[in-house]
Amino acid sequence: MADGAVPRTPVVAGNWKMHATLAEARTLAAAVRDGCRGLTEIRIAVCPAFTALAAVAEVLAGSPILVGAQDAHWEAAGAFTGSVSPSQVWDAGARLVILGHSERRHGLGESDEMVRRKVTAALAHGLTPLVCVGETADERAAGQTLAVVTRQLEAALGERPAVEAGRGWLAYEPVWAIGTGQTATPAQAAEVHAQLRTVLARLTGPAVAAACPILYGGSVKPEVTSALLAEPDIDGALVGGASLKAADFIGIVRAGIEAKGRARPPAERL
Ligand code: PEP
Repeated sequence: MADGAVPRTPVVAGNWKMHATLAEARTLAAAVRDGCRGLTEIRIAVCPAFTALAAVAEVLAGSPILVGAQDAHWEAAGAFTGSVSPSQVWDAGARLVILGHSERRHGLGESDEMVRRKVTAALAHGLTPLVCVGETADERAAGQTLAVVTRQLEAALGERPAVEAGRGWLAYEPVWAIGTGQTATPAQAAEVHAQLRTVLARLTGPAVAAACPILYGGSVKPEVTSALLAEPDIDGALVGGASLKAADFIGIVRAGIEAKGRARPPAERL
């Protein structure tokens, strides 16, 4: 498919991490809902902590904004103290689940194999997995970026049939950019996104690869969004810190719409 002619709907997702009381989560969700009313040309998701999933889902009921969890175990139920299962997050209102976030891979020792099992379970429970991949600063310095994200993506998908893999979303999140204020340049991100789409095409076929939203995450702020999302292979943003301020998150959503409107050929804008 020619550059700029992709039919993918852009996506902006907020990762609220381990922030917000119930009251704060409700207030933030309502502000995002009200500020994004009528913005139908983009998919919007918010991913609160487990404790706030149901409350946020209630606030967003009837709005097109998706609710996502930040993780889910691979088992449906059982003796896994402290974990939450895919059916439990679904029951609480989540339809999306972030998997393989670097704060879990590097902070909590989550392996490629664990991510693969979680992706399998999430799909089996009807959730859309938002699979995160990304290299550390040392891996980038060693020229290993493309090899690392390729390994992580191959591992996450496993032997998955294309029809299943086509229900997932991807996020490129360089570890060195997360929460550091150091955003990847559009060129750095675009190179990795192109690689991910090539690997996806090899694993699942060109149609699934062309349709899969690949988001960029890592210190996204309103002022850097336009340049990143003007890249044809960057379909949206996974936003951490800036998603905790409704005005910033809404600014990113609006900048994303603007960038993708500009990037699309005139015929698609009709
Ligand atoms: C994230 O945690 O997914 C993230 C991208 O964080 P931040 O935007 O704060 O870098």
